Amino acid sequence: MKSGMKSRQKSRMAVALLLSSALTGSALGQAQQADVLITGGTIYDGSDAKPFTGDVTITGDKITYVGPKANVTAKRTINARGMIVSPGLIDAHTHSDHFLESPDKALRANPAWTMQGVSTVFLGIDGNGTPNLKDRFAKFSANGIGTNVVSYVGFGAIRQAVIGEAARAPTPAELDKEKALVVKGMCEGAIGLSAGLFYAPQNFAKTDEVIALAKEAGRRGGIYDTHQRDETSYSIGLINSTKEVLQIGREGGIPVHFSHIKALGPVVWGKSADVIKLINEARASGQNVTANHYPWLASHTGLDAALIPRWASDGGDAAMIKRFDDPALMKKIKAEMVENLKRRGGAQAILLTSGAADGGTAKDAPAKPWTGKYLSDIAKEWKVDPLDAAIRIIRETGGKASIVSFNISEPDLENFMKQSWTVTSSDGGPGHPREYATFQTKYAVYVKQKHVIDTGFFIRHSSGLTADIFKLDRRGYLRTGYFADVLVFDPNRYVPKADYVHPAVLSEGVQELFVNGVAAVDNGKPTGATAGRPLPHTPPAGTCN
Ligand SMILES: [Zn+2]
Repeated sequence: MKSGMKSRQKSRMAVALLLSSALTGSALGQAQQADVLITGGTIYDGSDAKPFTGDVTITGDKITYVGPKANVTAKRTINARGMIVSPGLIDAHTHSDHFLESPDKALRANPAWTMQGVSTVFLGIDGNGTPNLKDRFAKFSANGIGTNVVSYVGFGAIRQAVIGEAARAPTPAELDKEKALVVKGMCEGAIGLSAGLFYAPQNFAKTDEVIALAKEAGRRGGIYDTHQRDETSYSIGLINSTKEVLQIGREGGIPVHFSHIKALGPVVWGKSADVIKLINEARASGQNVTANHYPWLASHTGLDAALIPRWASDGGDAAMIKRFDDPALMKKIKAEMVENLKRRGGAQAILLTSGAADGGTAKDAPAKPWTGKYLSDIAKEWKVDPLDAAIRIIRETGGKASIVSFNISEPDLENFMKQSWTVTSSDGGPGHPREYATFQTKYAVYVKQKHVIDTGFFIRHSSGLTADIFKLDRRGYLRTGYFADVLVFDPNRYVPKADYVHPAVLSEGVQELFVNGVAAVDNGKPTGATAGRPLPHTPPAGTCN
């Protein structure tokens, strides 16, 4: 009911704003000059407001008008009749580093994302974000990138730097060092602290260590983002893991954000209801809890992360592979792998991909004999047990083999998608079509085909709501004075082209995408422009000295 009031107030405000800007235009009695006029499109402004037919103008890097017919002359006019005009989309969880850091400008332009209509990507997720953010942001600015960038400082990067790969708690001195690195990251513009407690060595941390660090991020206005410890039944289980995240938020005094929220594997299918109930109860009690999700039934991770028990990766990949040579240890590892394979739905639910994934730091990798094949088929081809096939692949890749694993149920996925507090993310990285096709897939399948959500919900939960959750300054909405991240797409042609076997194919249907007022996509084609900017978070005064 509260939100109904809010949205009524918002739409009254929107009408008032429209009237005042229309009056300003006519009061001047003359046409104003804009750089770009997008005319006659169906406008979704990123809020809950109803769409309307109208115009948007851009001058410099700002939106200068949103409303019914604009009284302007423009250097360039885009006829958007039959098209949807919306804020540029925001992707709350990506592994797009390999593009944004590429020596090739055409890749830094980030077409995999701009061709989905995405103008802002989040980096440093799953605990991977460097605390040296000032340097990283400066490099992005100097080299040029195609999308705006938001970044976390990562618990994994910090723990690795201070304690290495060891499976133990930090000493008090080490904990202080970890805290100092969180502060450094936050004070250099991180949006918050990300963690991937599922992955080693982050997995070796107990909850209290994470809370101590989350406090430092919370004090500086950050958010705690997590690839939670267990999305299935590997360790503490999905429900206890969800409770752990909520506890970190409460005791850390920090908003929490679940990344790629899901119920992973047949053992927890149907548990989305319990997770949602826990989150709704926490929200009702006043806790700030949100999530992002991706619209895919297959997840993407390392073959070793999926199958090898965590204790066996203590010390890193090389130490793990050395344990394979010890027959007694190998026997123990294999016994646990049997259970892990079951959790993943069996060897026929694991597709080996071309990328390499290791705790989310995916890098491009050349195709191997198993690329694009299911683990079950490779095992048959090699005439070995699927577990032996997996071990051979892990050995040959030095622990860097990646998989897509079909382990999410449709009802759970839809259940998470429909929540008022869930926004879109791709989790995109090499080897899974979500890198190129997440937003089109969500629209084509869940808006147009299955009617799970409508167009307004899709856009709001991929732009305005995301900007609200992360308090992004003047982003996520089509509003006068906001930065001109503006998307024009053809709802009939906005479709994915990538699939699990051909994951790296550009999506279609984006007619125009402006990033800070510059066309990143023009007439359906990437322009190669690099008008993206780092979007550093500003901590409250006095918290960074
Ligand atoms: Zn993740």
